[in-house]
Amino acid sequence: MKKFDYHRPQTLKEAFRLMEKYKGRARYIAGGTDIIVRVKKGVAQPDALVSLRGINELRGVERGRGLTFGSMTLVRELESDPVFSTDFPALARAAAVLASPQIRNVATVGGNLANAAPSADCAPPLLTLEAQLTLEGPGGKREVSIDEFFQGPGRTCCDAIEIITRITVPAPANKTGMAFLKTGRVNQDIALANAAALLVMENSVCRKCRLAVGAVAPVPLRLKTVESAIEGRKIDDELLGQIGAMVEHEISPITDVRTTEDYRRVVTGVMVGRAIRQALQNVYPGGQEVFR
Ligand SMILES: Cc1cc2nc3c(=O)[nH]c(=O)nc-3n(C[C@H](O)[C@H](O)[C@H](O)COP(=O)(O)OP(=O)(O)OC[C@H]3O[C@@H](n4cnc5c(N)ncnc54)[C@H](O)[C@@H]3O)c2cc1C
Repeated sequence: MKKFDYHRPQTLKEAFRLMEKYKGRARYIAGGTDIIVRVKKGVAQPDALVSLRGINELRGVERGRGLTFGSMTLVRELESDPVFSTDFPALARAAAVLASPQIRNVATVGGNLANAAPSADCAPPLLTLEAQLTLEGPGGKREVSIDEFFQGPGRTCCDAIEIITRITVPAPANKTGMAFLKTGRVNQDIALANAAALLVMENSVCRKCRLAVGAVAPVPLRLKTVESAIEGRKIDDELLGQIGAMVEHEISPITDVRTTEDYRRVVTGVMVGRAIRQALQNVYPGGQEVFR
């Protein structure tokens, strides 16, 4: 493994200064569960790692019209803190099935998004919640929607010096149901495919539908055509029976070491249908909204 310098700045400004000093030869490190693997394999060979752990501006949770939380929020906190699990159960569920407890205790939500793996488990629920990301660099702050953030495998709209500082999700409307499902080769594995659903129901009709999937396209993906086909309709068995074919049209999976393109295509259609059913059962307040 190539030797590198290690820095632990206390402020964003200090972090930006360090990144500028290394002129593109430094990388940020949050929990280190992705970047250290890449450095050990020699895939990343930075001259320095700049740790985000000492920067208080990247921590904390604020409630407003929704919830804003720091990018250094641990995956373990998403899983177990009621501030997330009560109002955003699909996000808490995604966190609960990400890797192992040891990884979840150090991995951060910001790292999960910035790493931009198509399989990132936090991405689909945050896509269905239409999260906004605050990015900050030496030139100031900007807000981007999570949908624009992912640009390809390992690629985002963040430039090399920018840091995801905060993530904001709107408060769920009345009668919202959410669900997250994941399938892997074994427990604690990276997803072969994952899926999240968010539904807002009114008098048995779906007023808003947000669906997102992972590991079946170059980026974690919103299924906008399927969403439009569901909005304004009753969700019955007939509609659910058409979901698989609609999903298969919107995704572009590949064959890799984990599984085949064909398997991903079929399983994702099934998972999205199941996620919709589960979201209907979780509609709150008011309980089950399943129509047969
Ligand atoms: C054994 C194992 C199992 C895993 N299983 C899963 C799994 O089931 N599901 C899953 O989704 N992932 C999994 N992962 C991947 C990893 O744990 C997660 O992606 C994790 O959330 C990364 O967070 P981190 O804080 O450790 O990121 P780091 O490794 O510290 O950083 C990842 C990348 O993001 C950049 N970065 C970090 N924070 C920021 C920020 N705030 N702003 C800008 N850039 C930033 C870093 O420079 C780096 O390029 C697994 C990893 C391992 C080793």
